[in-house]
Amino acid sequence: SAAMAAPHVLVFPFPIQGHINCMLHFTTALVDAGVHVTFLHTDHNIRRLGGRAPSAGPGSPRLHFLSVPDGLPDDHPRSEAYLVDLYKSLAAATRGPYRDLLARSSSLATAAADAAGADEPTGDFPPVTCVVADGLLSWAVEVADELGVPAIVFRTASACSLLAYLSVPKLFELGELPFPVGGDLDEPVRAVPGMETILRRRDLPSQCRRPNATDEVNPGLRALAKVSADSSKARALVLNTTATLERTALEHIAPHVRDLFAIGPLHAMSSSPASCSLLREDGGCMAWLDGQPDRSVVYASLGSLATISREQFTELFAGLLATGYPFLWVLRPDMVADAVALQDEEVRAADGGGSSKARVVAWAPQREVLRHRAVGCFLTHAGWNSTLEAVVEGVPTVCWPFSADQQMNSRFVGAVWRTGLDMKDVCDRAVVERTVREAMESAKIRGAAQAMAEQLKCDVAAGGSSATEFQRLVGLIRELSALSETRVVER
Ligand code: UDP
Repeated sequence: SAAMAAPHVLVFPFPIQGHINCMLHFTTALVDAGVHVTFLHTDHNIRRLGGRAPSAGPGSPRLHFLSVPDGLPDDHPRSEAYLVDLYKSLAAATRGPYRDLLARSSSLATAAADAAGADEPTGDFPPVTCVVADGLLSWAVEVADELGVPAIVFRTASACSLLAYLSVPKLFELGELPFPVGGDLDEPVRAVPGMETILRRRDLPSQCRRPNATDEVNPGLRALAKVSADSSKARALVLNTTATLERTALEHIAPHVRDLFAIGPLHAMSSSPASCSLLREDGGCMAWLDGQPDRSVVYASLGSLATISREQFTELFAGLLATGYPFLWVLRPDMVADAVALQDEEVRAADGGGSSKARVVAWAPQREVLRHRAVGCFLTHAGWNSTLEAVVEGVPTVCWPFSADQQMNSRFVGAVWRTGLDMKDVCDRAVVERTVREAMESAKIRGAAQAMAEQLKCDVAAGGSSATEFQRLVGLIRELSALSETRVVER
């Protein structure tokens, strides 16, 4: 029989910015722990990265990048609306190439290595012994099962959002879904266990809302409920969270899964966190921040996908200006409807024509920005990654949630952790001004944010809950990898 090769994990994220960042941090942590990793990009994202080769901390001989097609044309619009297209396209067009890649990289490479009598795999593609697939790619786990490669599921969003998707059948059964036409979004929801006093209808995943009076819920809801149920059946389920943030949700998920690992916030775990921006980062804003007083700047960013109307743009802009604080604003080129006109007028105005009050960038090095002493608060769409990045740095947040799990994250910020304020889905200049001022000036909110940051640092430090769980996960990966090897050799 073959000597036991080093475990080699194929990490396969759903190929959008937030998921890529999160699973790349996980990759870095695995590589640091001595595990071989192949990180699977899409061809499209590799092209977007261009010369800026995907990087994960310092280059390591244990780290490889490969890619598969996503099945969409390169010029397909890549903001929020395309997620459904991408989801479907991946299942249809990527499954085959992924299966070929996995087959080639697991059993065949190992068999070839055996035939050559080598301890190390031959060729430039060492054998994959374990797959860690994004929870949205349940077909990637099916394929791994078919090929006899052990698979682990990684959900990049909060534990509570998973719990909500797992509760969808019960929400229907108890009549809490569909929402009544014209019903009150502030009504409490009782069918998500442990969340009875926290969640209101508005906080549930956005797909729970009626798209119109005739359709009961967004058709995507059932698909998400299904992949969530699939995730819970996996050999192991990994979440980028911690009991400090989500003890109750984790306790209610645990009985439904075979093995649960809460190893977040992952970007704080690795000493050299990865960076892989699909848009080019404008690092110039760091020098601008250097010139600003401590805690004086509002950082405003709505993540990689959200789009806003011109009215929303105008209200947000006016609200930020009215606070009187300098602000750093991420305005992606595809973010505002009718953006051509914007670039000509408002963006220049926002940049202040050289005044120091505002700085607009297309994409910021967000984690560095949040670490900067000049940043006083973060106006965010409350995507899970942005939410984690803010709490790790102890930066108060003003949440303007758009879709998916963002309402729920905002609710946790505003009502559970109290590390910021929930603006809900209202964006008018007066609300922006008032809420940002409060987040900038409230000692209570800053105190809660800093206390949370301290606790999270303990969680990811050696001996902390997330670090310990991560070690246990590496142990499981080694065990499963040994099994994978045995199975291949027996064949
Ligand atoms: N991000 C960034 N620069 C920006 C805006 C966002 O690097 O100007 C990163 C941010 O740090 C986070 C990710 O993009 O890691 C966004 O993920 P999130 O889950 O917050 O939101 P999504 O983009 O999925 O809606």
